[in-house]
Amino acid sequence: MKVIFSDRAYASVLAETAEKITTETGGLFLGVVRENTWYILEAIDPGPKSVFEVAYFEYDQKYTEHLINKIANLYSHRLDLIGLWHRHPGSFDQFSSTDDGTNTKYASMRKEGAISALVNVDPHFRLTMYHVAPPCRYGKIPFEVGNDRIPPELLAFRTPERFFSLMEKRLRAASGRHDRAVSLAAFMRSVLPYIGEIECERTDGMAVMNAETTEKLAGAVMEDLTFLADRADIRVTLAMQDQYLVISQETAEGTDRLYFMDSVSRGQIVFFYHDRCYPYHSGMLEDAAGKAKADRDRQNAGADPGGRPKRQGSVFDSVMRIVKFSRNEEADHGDQNS
Ligand SMILES: [Zn+2]
Repeated sequence: MKVIFSDRAYASVLAETAEKITTETGGLFLGVVRENTWYILEAIDPGPKSVFEVAYFEYDQKYTEHLINKIANLYSHRLDLIGLWHRHPGSFDQFSSTDDGTNTKYASMRKEGAISALVNVDPHFRLTMYHVAPPCRYGKIPFEVGNDRIPPELLAFRTPERFFSLMEKRLRAASGRHDRAVSLAAFMRSVLPYIGEIECERTDGMAVMNAETTEKLAGAVMEDLTFLADRADIRVTLAMQDQYLVISQETAEGTDRLYFMDSVSRGQIVFFYHDRCYPYHSGMLEDAAGKAKADRDRQNAGADPGGRPKRQGSVFDSVMRIVKFSRNEEADHGDQNS
């Protein structure tokens, strides 16, 4: 039986010892056990809240668990917690009774037991490696250092493709949740009865969107966007498209869109929804939602007319970014054309 440190794991033990040269310290080993060889690929430091006293040590458990997961996620091969190390004062290279307790715990986690190393600086760095057979039987074993002694597949990180497919999987899971959010279509059904339809031509908007119009439209819808996101829990996307500012929501059933336009002939902002046109002013959707709610409340209980909820403004920044972005984009286009 033997132990092989990766270059990085061994450097981690040395770095930790050097850094805490005047006190005890230690760490955890992450690796793979294969045919009587213990490959230590990573050595995790004990964490900022660890406690090391002469006959007592305690790792910062939250920190080490966090770091173990972070680091194990990088590797294509599964890494396990296979052992630990700690420094002893002077030349004391045997385990204390407290150590026996800790080693017993680690050895019980797998059938092969665990490895446990002691470091002494007396005065030079010296590492003694032990195998701990369950429940707590010690045997000294040799160790080597070097990535060239480790099968390459154990050292390999997950490929970019593997990470990409993980991203896609998680995105799909997230968009599944998105579909369960409140739908824009249902919201519009509830508020449209409180907004009068008007006659308006789609060709009636500004022929070319300029920065001024973009800002005007974005500024006008900001209050309602904030309301939709923060109070109504409706997740929408904002985009500029031709002469329109488009608020849209993608669901499993399709995409629902509100097209806002600065109508030249009417001298006001209007919006199109399912090919019908409605007048628009800032905060109108919120007002209509308030009226719809008040009516529902009256029907249900008849009591609460309901004050207008305070807006929170978290969407403000993102809207302003979109406005700025559109501006920059336009400037770029201008450069290309000239
Ligand atoms: Zn000890």
